[in-house]
Amino acid sequence: MTNLVYLDNNATTKVDPLVLAAMLPFFSEQYGNPSSMHSFGGAVAAHIRTAREQLAHLLGAAPDEIVFTSCGTESDSTAIRAALDSYPAKRHLVTSRVEHPAVKNLFEALSKKGYRTTFVPVDGQGRLDLDALYDSLSEETAIVSLMWANNETGVIFPIEEVSRRVKERGIVFHTDAVQAVGKLPIDLEKTGVDMLSLSGHKIHGPKGIGALYLRKGTKFSPFMIGGHQEKGRRGGTENTGAIVGLGKAAELAKQHLDAGGYRGVSELRDRLEETILAGVPNTMVNGGREHRLPNTTSIAFEYVEGEAILLMLNEHGICASSGSACTSGSLEPSHVLRAMGVPFTAAHGSIRFSLSRYTTAGEIDLVLEKLPPIIARLREMSPFWKSANADAHGK
Ligand code: PLP
Repeated sequence: MTNLVYLDNNATTKVDPLVLAAMLPFFSEQYGNPSSMHSFGGAVAAHIRTAREQLAHLLGAAPDEIVFTSCGTESDSTAIRAALDSYPAKRHLVTSRVEHPAVKNLFEALSKKGYRTTFVPVDGQGRLDLDALYDSLSEETAIVSLMWANNETGVIFPIEEVSRRVKERGIVFHTDAVQAVGKLPIDLEKTGVDMLSLSGHKIHGPKGIGALYLRKGTKFSPFMIGGHQEKGRRGGTENTGAIVGLGKAAELAKQHLDAGGYRGVSELRDRLEETILAGVPNTMVNGGREHRLPNTTSIAFEYVEGEAILLMLNEHGICASSGSACTSGSLEPSHVLRAMGVPFTAAHGSIRFSLSRYTTAGEIDLVLEKLPPIIARLREMSPFWKSANADAHGK
């Protein structure tokens, strides 16, 4: 079998072996319920407390401000619905045009239920139109929800500044930081963020676990109503193994960040990107390169189909993802690339490479060896490429 070259870490990440080791006892001997009165359950509760502290430490938060959920999507839904429940007279919500479906589709559903929604535009570099954002705010606005970093392009929004300005207007601020957490230093104390969503499986933790940061004093009503778990903020017996795993993953992410580990990741990403741009004609990077996650690049290969590139990379064991979404049988360029105004011929052939702390120089070399001939072969077969070249040569 070909060796796997996994460059799809914004989709999900490998569980760190230390995370798995920390989790395993909670699926065997340490199966107690943390809510039980006996010390067998109490011992498990102590591990949950540790996980809460580890995660709080990564975010610059207090342990009490962490609520464990089942995933990033649940955290997003919980935050947005909590603001609407807490301020029932306010019927307006603001987000951006480039959010993950976890926020985008919820906004669209709420819009159908009669809420007024604003989707703030971005420019060609994926930067938020700050004037449009601030102009949209009113007495009626219940919440502003903006992603910290984009999952497709890696472009970072200026959340520290924007959250403070939104807070000054007395409006609740939520950020979907699923892609930012663990990859960027975050100190929530220095922001106006009221609520923040994150997900375990994006930071070398397990799937099926996420968390919501809830700033002390923020009005809240739970999405999952049930037992008194998570101080009544999220009912349901705790997913103990996964919580412990998320705590360990947060601890490892903090160590990696503090040690400047992402410098190496961004050097590999930059070499991949620059060598492709220099060696393959008609390619460009989607989104501004200045304020971007260190691990992500979205590259448009004009006049070829992203899915064809992916399939051919897959034959060499290389995993990446495309900038298209398969909706009702047709391959539509993603809403993110469309919002940025990326031309159809480029958006259609866009590939996202997302690296991790496990990515090696040898893996990047393999992509750089295999990818250019794939693009050349696909272009030979592309009628669009042929006619574009004929146009360019005045034929
Ligand atoms: N938000 C962003 C920006 C994401 O990238 C993702 C996952 O891809 C999510 C939310 C959803 O997270 P989860 O898969 O944990 O529900």
